[in-house]
Amino acid sequence: MTDNNFGFDTLAIRSGHRRTAELEHSEAIFTTSSFVFENAAQAAARFAGDEPGNIYSRFTNPTTQAFEARLAAMEGGQSCVATASGMAAIMSLCLAVLQAGDHIVSSRSVFGTTTTLFGKYLPRLGIETSFVNLVDLEEWKRAIRGNTRFLFLETPSNPLMEIADISALADLAHENNCLLVIDNCFCTPALQRPLELGADLIVHSATKYLDGQGRIVGGAVIGPDPLISEDIFAVIRTTGPSMSPFNAWVALKGLETLALRMDAHSQRALQLARMLQQHPAVERVYHPGLESHPQHELAKSQQAGFGGVVSFVVNGGRENAWRVIDATEMVSITANLGDVKTTITHPATTTHGRVSDEVKASTGIGEGLIRVAVGLENIDDIVNDIFRGLDA
Ligand SMILES: *Cc1c(COP(=O)(O)O)cnc(C)c1O
Repeated sequence: MTDNNFGFDTLAIRSGHRRTAELEHSEAIFTTSSFVFENAAQAAARFAGDEPGNIYSRFTNPTTQAFEARLAAMEGGQSCVATASGMAAIMSLCLAVLQAGDHIVSSRSVFGTTTTLFGKYLPRLGIETSFVNLVDLEEWKRAIRGNTRFLFLETPSNPLMEIADISALADLAHENNCLLVIDNCFCTPALQRPLELGADLIVHSATKYLDGQGRIVGGAVIGPDPLISEDIFAVIRTTGPSMSPFNAWVALKGLETLALRMDAHSQRALQLARMLQQHPAVERVYHPGLESHPQHELAKSQQAGFGGVVSFVVNGGRENAWRVIDATEMVSITANLGDVKTTITHPATTTHGRVSDEVKASTGIGEGLIRVAVGLENIDDIVNDIFRGLDA
């Protein structure tokens, strides 16, 4: 199925599947490490790249290719390469487009491990990163140098749900001969398609909403060819962080319900955010669906929904924040997100625990802050569980 005129919901269910001679209705899992050839000449032609086809599952696998084709169609990108994790997607992108002497500009509010990759490991390869305020376009402008290769960001950001203007940053990137890379983890293509807004490349952690049920670790890079099909594919095939066929199958089936789930996550998150806003023990609520959110209009213009994450500040700092978290009986105390199960976490002592107090203060990750990734349980049960500690 390659008909890109289909609607999003149809692409999510029908695209990418190449039915085999068995005429299976649901997509098959090809759990095989290698593939056989008709004869020696065919093997030679495959290895020489003269004939398309499978050789070995570190390079290509039909189940993984089905996931790649489907996700590419959903993001509106030409191609996709799946990876073993979200971090493998970001690393592969770096290895494919950067070399010693290059420079990146990254939002300061990116996933903690991304900060470590850019700040600790890339400098060893002679690659420097400048970190900037996600929502300050002037700061992005000032940070760009002659050797800057790409701008990198997540929007909405984690955990404060700040929104970057993707079109404005795409223009800025292109005026400076840079690529704009978006980590589209929080919205997924169901709510936001950055390529349509001018971004060049998308990275994903399939571990989150793409799977959606907390079962696998995976990732993907989406964008134009030959950058994806040759450069990034070659890095993954050489360095090894390919996605396993089983994980690809789980994520592939996850995509089929992505739009429905993102819609339901968004609805519940907004309901929770509105209720938290009314609570006397809550000082502040961060969710782009609230009219009080500073980039509410921007979020409305570039997203089809506001996403499933809500962060809020309780009065009384760490002690009260921990009290609220520990009073929950149903929601899971875990840093993961993008699951049908609601999760709750204290960023200042977990995901952002190793960030210096100064950076925490400047990025707004205070001791009273709690992040909830709203799942798909009954909203009354979610609200009651989180309000247990707030009411006490
Ligand atoms: C989880 C996450 C990653 C890393 O993905 P893994 O699959 O854990 O490697 C990258 N970016 C964002 C925004 C994430 O939430």
